[in-house]
Amino acid sequence: MATLEHPYANIDQSQPLRGNLHAHTTHSDGDRSRREVVADYAQRGYDFLMLSDHDVFTSPEELREVTENDLILIPGNEITADGPHMLHIAAERRVDPHADRQRCLDAVSQQGDGIVVACHPNWSYPRGKADFNHCSLENLRNWNGFCGLEIYNGVIGRLNGSPYATNKWDLLLSEGRKLWGFANDDSHATTGDVELGWNVVWAAERTPVGIVDALSQGRFYASTGVAITGIRVEDAHVQIETADAQRVVAITQHGQRLKVADGPHIEVEVPADAGYVRFECWGTGEKFAWTQPFWVTSPPEPQSPS
Ligand SMILES: [Zn+2]
Ligand SMILES: [Zn+2]
Repeated sequence: MATLEHPYANIDQSQPLRGNLHAHTTHSDGDRSRREVVADYAQRGYDFLMLSDHDVFTSPEELREVTENDLILIPGNEITADGPHMLHIAAERRVDPHADRQRCLDAVSQQGDGIVVACHPNWSYPRGKADFNHCSLENLRNWNGFCGLEIYNGVIGRLNGSPYATNKWDLLLSEGRKLWGFANDDSHATTGDVELGWNVVWAAERTPVGIVDALSQGRFYASTGVAITGIRVEDAHVQIETADAQRVVAITQHGQRLKVADGPHIEVEVPADAGYVRFECWGTGEKFAWTQPFWVTSPPEPQSPS
């Protein structure tokens, strides 16, 4: 019988923390000061935020000066120059943006600080180069040492390309890669860029360490508006409950739909040959939620007596 390996086992789903890991300020090309950006997210009731200025590291000391309410600020930056962009989340210091991004990933692993997420893979840049390929599948296949990719990036909704990158995610998952899907704003402008995409995390403690530990282990889902209220797994049986989805879709290898359920929940018996399954919860307008993948693992064949 198939069993499933997934990040949601043995977690308390009663205290979700909501946050954005991608926001710019006047310390790079954002329109607002650090203080204004932090105040905006705090007022919207966010639990955590990372200021991700382009190759500009925001230290814990600088963050302490701008913090508001009990918004948890996570230090880091967006590795930007000379190559595909990457978030260095919970960094202790900046790594140089080497054109060979594997060297950046190796530097992060040597520093032993934080996690790395590939940004807006399906952005078309520069303008006119309409290839939806800011970060190529080849790069994502070849790199080691990053934990996931932005399957949704809000700002690309007003630029060339696609804000979504579930196509590349499904291809990588189908090839056996274990990568988490993130949703972030990538906010730059004063209005219209905030509260487009976020991550809902089940952390063991309400601290930067607790949040980053949960992110690194996939104990979260990505959202543009739909709320997941329960994830239950027993053997190969998965139930997803949402507050407000109109349709829930179970997606397996190469993007194939395993099951489509109208309404706010779905129940699936994952077949032993599925490889993996993940769930997309579709709400009204452009509201979605995406779970992390559930991988099929089968217990070893019983040894025949000799
Ligand atoms: Zn970027
Ligand atoms: Zn950015």
